[in-house]
Amino acid sequence: MKAKGLINTMGFSFHGTAELLDEVLTDHPEMEFVQLQLNYLDWESEWIQSRKCYEVALKHNTPIIVMEPVRGGTLAKVPAEVEELFKQHDPNASVASWAVRFAASLPGVMMVLSGMSSLQQMEDNLSYMEDFQPLTEEERAMVGKAADMINAQIAIPCTGCSYCTEGCPKKIAIPQYFSLYNEDMREHLEEKGWTVNFANYGHLTLKFGKAADCIACGQCEGMCPQHLPIIEHLQTVSKHYDI
Ligand code: SF4
Ligand code: SF4
Repeated sequence: MKAKGLINTMGFSFHGTAELLDEVLTDHPEMEFVQLQLNYLDWESEWIQSRKCYEVALKHNTPIIVMEPVRGGTLAKVPAEVEELFKQHDPNASVASWAVRFAASLPGVMMVLSGMSSLQQMEDNLSYMEDFQPLTEEERAMVGKAADMINAQIAIPCTGCSYCTEGCPKKIAIPQYFSLYNEDMREHLEEKGWTVNFANYGHLTLKFGKAADCIACGQCEGMCPQHLPIIEHLQTVSKHYDI
């Protein structure tokens, strides 16, 4: 395909362990890039292994394309205290800008894919990418602190990609339920009473299976790029919402 001019630059996206990536790049030195999930929240994650995969790509001198720099939007809407931390450092910088700049500052990164869904988001991205300034050491440390603060608050680290839902025999709205649950855990840590998400959950179950309907077939877990123990998390969600 390359010889025919149908492929210009050949590479692949990757959702596995750093160890497997090392094996793949050792066997395929012809690869011209690898697309990795790199963001400040997953940097030290034992599931995603952002940092470890990044270091493997560097070791093989393989250019990196970054996917999920804002982690499905999670890093554009951070807890209030994290937003405050960012605003204290630079009141004019958007919350998402710290995530995109973190990824774009890494040596070896050739491109950062930022999923934008509005003109405003594109203009924001362009405002700091046109004349790009890498994070300073101080900013990097601050972003690391933000990651610790956010990770401490996320009950289920689902990115909402929906890869898990297609083959579910019970048609369970997995990412939606995880999102509602995370919101409840974040907003109502103190008072665990009724929240509007109980109603939202109820509406979703009119169309989709309940968390309690899961038969533990494991189909979804095999599809999850975040390697989440979905069945276990659904049991937790079910205890919270199903009556
Ligand atoms: S394990 Fe549960 S949620 Fe996952 S595909 Fe099977 S029934 Fe659906
Ligand atoms: S595949 Fe994993 S990360 Fe993606 S929506 Fe499903 S549970 Fe969430």
